[in-house]
Amino acid sequence: MEKYETSNFVDEIIAKDLESGAVKGVVTRFPPEPNGYLHIGHCKSICLNFGLAKKYGGECNLRFDDTNPAKEDEEYVNSIIEDVRWLGFEPSRILYASDYFDVMIACAEKLIRKGLAYVDDLTPEEMKAYRGTLTEPGKESPNRNRSVEENLELFRAMKSGTVRDGELILRAKIDMASPNINLRDPILYRVLHAEHHRQGNKWCVYPMYDFAHPIEDAVEGITHSVCTLEFEDHRPLYDWVTEHCEFDPRPHQYEFARLNLTRTIMSKRYLKRLVDEGSVDGWDDPRMPTISGLRRRGYPAAALREFCERVGVAKANSEVDAGLLEYCVREELNATAPRAMAVLDPIPVTISNLDSPIDLDVEFLMPDGTATVRKATFEPTILIERDDFAVTPPPKYKRLTVGGLVRLKGAFIVRCDGYTADADGKVTGVSCTYFPESRSGRDESGLKPKGVIHWVGAESSVPMTVRRLDYLLLPDDGTKADFSERMNPRSAETFPQARGERMLADAEGGAVFQFLRLAYFSRDPKAETLVFNEVVSLKDGYKPNK
Ligand code: ATP
Ligand code: MG
Repeated sequence: MEKYETSNFVDEIIAKDLESGAVKGVVTRFPPEPNGYLHIGHCKSICLNFGLAKKYGGECNLRFDDTNPAKEDEEYVNSIIEDVRWLGFEPSRILYASDYFDVMIACAEKLIRKGLAYVDDLTPEEMKAYRGTLTEPGKESPNRNRSVEENLELFRAMKSGTVRDGELILRAKIDMASPNINLRDPILYRVLHAEHHRQGNKWCVYPMYDFAHPIEDAVEGITHSVCTLEFEDHRPLYDWVTEHCEFDPRPHQYEFARLNLTRTIMSKRYLKRLVDEGSVDGWDDPRMPTISGLRRRGYPAAALREFCERVGVAKANSEVDAGLLEYCVREELNATAPRAMAVLDPIPVTISNLDSPIDLDVEFLMPDGTATVRKATFEPTILIERDDFAVTPPPKYKRLTVGGLVRLKGAFIVRCDGYTADADGKVTGVSCTYFPESRSGRDESGLKPKGVIHWVGAESSVPMTVRRLDYLLLPDDGTKADFSERMNPRSAETFPQARGERMLADAEGGAVFQFLRLAYFSRDPKAETLVFNEVVSLKDGYKPNK
């Protein structure tokens, strides 16, 4: 695959920092909260952080931001490790923010001693009222000027377990009149009696993200802490924490635009809702934009990395066309996926002048010109796609019609002599004559069929279930408030009668094939029977601008 320019603004900052000697080496991190499975948005952050470390011979940690025990779970930790590795990245270290709780407590106490933090007992409602608004300054809490001793005493009580959830909080003492609301004495620690998936019941105080994250970065010696744009206004607080907790060297935060994709839910919270409500078959449902879903669906890791390269790293939010992701998948599969024949909605075709099966060598060509030859059996009854026969053909129809000719891929030219239908007019069978002298590769018939269609032998094929897949969401017309009003009722269409070449039954879970004239499909690694899910269509109007 062609290598693209990897240059982006974070990349430029790093190059400058290395040149000026501001940093000696590059250390980045990917810091997910283990409260759900990773999605394609995280993929962008993974490719960026691991990619930068790789480019500059540095390190990238996988760090679990496990500071909120209520929503976190071991299952998510394991899935995240698996997803990062599958994407092709090996973390320099796998770390857990909860392992730094002692450091964070020490930092909090340091701030208290420096008169830069205090314990408060305002209710959440009072906190909100005191905070002020974007246009009005906030009001100082009556507890703001407690003595250091009293603050240490109260913080000790918070840690000891004698304080109930929400009763006391530890706040930074910064500036209640700051135009940046994040600096109006933000909460550093709260009391929470909850079991932590790693720490058990060791702690009953938990740090807030804005306090914990800079400390985590500093402890690990992160040089460039990359996060999404919504944290831009938090950067002054990030810097305040590392300065006043006296870390040296201090990490720096840089913000980039998060990935948004059309017709794609990009939030763990909403994805979890789909899983919990049973709207999908788990986090790895092949329609889910989770990394595990895309993997199960048959998306190659290389295509996801290529997609992230093409999207680039911007400083302004925008929405990327989901067609670009599919384009990357299609490009990769076009070059790599073996070709095969399968019929999704079969109608039987009787070859009236054929008494016994004929063994054929069918050649399948790849775009690079290489060919695979596989045995196929041309039988007295074969199966073709229902769509490939028309009683009253539309204009320019190139497939089978009564009296018309068509070539069966890798086999013979046939002429349709008639068909049968049920009381509703649904076609139940077609009869054809084949031309023995028209065998593929040595056609001496002189006949000129209009088109080529795929087929399988009725006896020699294997039964399978095929699912054609579509987006979980309908297009956004701007009128729906919530994604749940945009659910696509036809995101999956099942073909339980499908039949395919026999070798498909031996395909490994996850193996991808191009089913000729249909789409790319991959064998569902989770299904107990032979099930193929659509990966991506063969063609699309989407054109990426290079
Ligand atoms: P969600 O809202 O889906 O839970 P999050 O940002 O809360 O996402 P985290 O686990 O905190 O999820 O994310 C880990 C890292 O991935 C963060 O650095 C975050 O900025 C990044 N990230 C999450 N979503 C995206 C996205 N859509 N595009 C780019 N980066 C993302
Ligand atoms: Mg989150």
